[in-house]
This record gives sequence, C-alpha cells and structure tokens, in this order.
Amino acid sequence: MTCLAKLMTCVAKLPTRPCSGALLVLLLSLAGCAVNPATGERQLVLFSESQEIQIGEDADQDITASLGIYEDEALETLVSDLGQRMGRASERPDLPWTFRVLDDPTINAFALPGGYIYLTRGILAHLTSEAEVAGILGHEIGHVTARHGIVRLTQAQITQLGLGAAMILAPELQPFGEAVGVGVQLLFLRNSRSAERQADELGIEYMRNLGYDPRELARVFTMLAQASGARDGDRIPGFLSTHPDPLERRDEVLRRVEEAGEDLSDARIGREEYLRLLDGLTFGENPRDGFFREQTFLHPEMAFRVDFPAGWQTVNARTQVQGMSPEQDAAIVLTLVAEDAPGAGRSAFLGQAGMETLRRWDDPVGGLPAAWADFRARTEQGTLQGVVLFVRHGDRTFRILGYGPENTWDRRRGVAHSALLSFQALTDPEVLGIQPRRVEIVQLPRAMTLRTFLQEYPSNARDETVAQINQLELGEEVPSGTLLKRVVGGS
Ligand SMILES: [Zn+2]
Repeated sequence: MTCLAKLMTCVAKLPTRPCSGALLVLLLSLAGCAVNPATGERQLVLFSESQEIQIGEDADQDITASLGIYEDEALETLVSDLGQRMGRASERPDLPWTFRVLDDPTINAFALPGGYIYLTRGILAHLTSEAEVAGILGHEIGHVTARHGIVRLTQAQITQLGLGAAMILAPELQPFGEAVGVGVQLLFLRNSRSAERQADELGIEYMRNLGYDPRELARVFTMLAQASGARDGDRIPGFLSTHPDPLERRDEVLRRVEEAGEDLSDARIGREEYLRLLDGLTFGENPRDGFFREQTFLHPEMAFRVDFPAGWQTVNARTQVQGMSPEQDAAIVLTLVAEDAPGAGRSAFLGQAGMETLRRWDDPVGGLPAAWADFRARTEQGTLQGVVLFVRHGDRTFRILGYGPENTWDRRRGVAHSALLSFQALTDPEVLGIQPRRVEIVQLPRAMTLRTFLQEYPSNARDETVAQINQLELGEEVPSGTLLKRVVGGS
C-alpha cells in the first residue's frame, strides 16, 4: 500500500492498527510441516487447524459486513444444505462448514480457510440447476479441504516480509488503498493454476458423493467463458478470474467424466427445482443500497443525498461511500456512526489519539441537526488535516469526513466543505420508490427460439444478458414447457 492511501486509512480508522511484524515473527516460529488432508502431500503450513478456522471466522465477519448477506430463505437453505452434506462427506468433515449467499451482483464464488464458502446472488442468477450449484460448492470445498487458502496465505505472508522496504522506496499514489477490511483483502490472493485444477477434480468427486451429475460443472465453465466477455465487474478475484481458461477447464471436466465411464442416467440435476427458487431474485445492482447519478450520491433506503465534488472519483463500497480528488491529495468518506447525538459522535472522533481540534461549531445541514470540526491528525506516516461533519437524519447519525495531507489541505478544504454542506434529506418520490430488477421464471407455453422468447416476454436487460443467464444461444430452439428466466422491473 502507498503512503497517501495509508495515511487516509489511518484517519478513517483511528486508532491505527499496530504493525503486524511481531505477529509474523510469532507465526513463523510456529511453522511446521503438515500432511494435506485432501491430497496426502506434505507441505509447509504456518497455521494449525484451529488458527486456520480462526482466520476464516475473522475474515467472515469482514466479508459479511462489507458485501452483505442476500436475504432469501429458500436459496439460503438450498446452498447451505447442499454445502453441509458435501462438506461432511469430504476429507475434513469436522470443520465448521459455513455457506453464505452474498448480496452482490457480480458473478462470483470463493472460499476462505476454515470452511467458509460464499456464492453471490450474481452467480446464482446465472446458474440453471442444483447440480451446477453443487459443482461450484464442490470446487470451493476442494480449495478448503486441500488447504489452498491457508497455503496461499503462508506464501503471501512470507513475501510481505520482503515487500515492505520496496513500498516505502517507491510509493505510488493509489486511491482507496484499504477500502475493505483485511478479510476481503485475503480474497485478493489468487489460487495457482494447479490449485484450480485440483479443486475442480475434488469438486467432481464431491458431486459424485451426493449423486449429482458432474457434467453440470462443465456447463458452469461454459457460462463463465461467456460471461467473462461481458463487463460484469471483477471486484474480487474468484471463480471468474482464475488463470486456467474456463473452456480448458470445461474440457478437462468432460474428459475426467468420460474416463470414469460411469452410468450417469440416474444422476441428479435438479433443473426445475432450482429455477423455481430463482423467481423474484434481485438482478444486477440494487439501487436501494444507494447509487451515484453523476456526482450525486442518492440513497433511497436511508433517504439522503450528497453531492461529491466535480471531477472526483467516487465509489459506493456498501459500508462507506468515498470520493477522491483527481490529484489524489484529498478524500471524502461517508459512513454511519453508532452515536445518536452528532455532538457525541464528534467528541468520540476528536478524542482519538493523535487528534488535535482546530475549531468546532454547530450548524444545521439541510435543516438537520449537525456537529462540525476542523482537525489535525498526527499519524505514523505524517500529518493530515480535515473537516468532519456529524449529522442526524431519521434514526441514523452520518459522519462525513474530508481530509488530506496538511501541506495541500488549504487548497482542498473549500471544495470538501461544500460537499459536506450538500448533505440533505432525499424527497424525490421517483428516487425514493426505486426498485431493483428481478428475475422472473416463465414456463414456455409452446416451443420457440430464445429470440422469439425475448420478443414475447421482453426483459429489462440486454439480449445477450438474458441469453447468458439462460445459458442459451439467441437462435436456439427451446421446447414447450421449459422454464426460462427473464429480467423485469427496475427503472
Ligand atoms: Zn477456485
């Protein structure tokens, strides 16, 4: 991470975290050789199983807080029951297996050490059977049983020891250095090509254990190959961004299945059952979680709006909304705080170590009770200056912080202050009532091509997107009675 990004993180998260050097030395001294439960190989692992579980548990809290859980009991039950049965039939039946559906529109699935596994609602929208869900769960369970995450973490920690000096010598400005917690950062450590192959192989085995047709995993790779051409975002490396080409992996799966020569005529697929569960699924970004219209951030659920400065780069990161100046020498961060009274929030903020109050005043914002302060913050990396606003709206207290390095703050304070002043209640009924798009399941009354389906049952999404979520080509003939997905609603 870079100096500026580090500085900004420090203020946003004061008190600063201690350097993890001492922890690393401790961990290295605990290093040992262990036999891999899934592969039987001996390997260097820095963490015991209970430490592995602890790492997963800690990271899980970060991930559920920053990405959010998708509330849908039926889908949750399917993913969790299937996952539990698979996990308990694996080489590590006693891990605290945990399966979650994340409220995230990207196509993704990933695993954390200790048995924490996540599927996004985005990937679920693109699947067409229970067996495909089983294929993804099996693959991710494979990463856990073969301890890929923990081995990966081991290597990354060792590398980090050598990286620290280089980062200080060559600082590059990078916005939003640590927008997400440590748990989410864990996900940025990618699996190797061979780890992906091994997870595919284990996944096929776990699908077989439960009687699912392993060829459905091949269909997942076809879908991923199609979807990776689309610009559906790639916020977290996972299923999509793994190095081996999806089509290569598809062929490998089919080759393995053929080699095994088993009779799959009775193998479970569960297409209809799965598709019925998808009816009503939120599709794409959910505008109720807040969205940018040009530089204005609008939040229908919390009914407020804020104008970020023109030309600033903005990010809606669920737990916070951020803006960064084009010169990357100032940032604005909006979050919720626990204190009910704006003044209490301000006192807690200014009471942190290294914080110096320059001025404090109480001035309403958009007619709402508010507490303000100008401050200076001394951090390990240097001195920052900023302006902070605490404002009460509805039953929430918002904190908006504008800050930057002390030497350039004079030039940035005006624009940051204006942005903070723009906070106001959202009253536009059109925006307040905005709804996300949803998946609707249609049973075809007669045979037709997907193209005809798109005309007779129009979707609020591009044709290619509807083809992708149905795993069909536009010209493909679909038999009568088939269940197809369309995308409805939204604005
Ligand atoms: Zn993988």
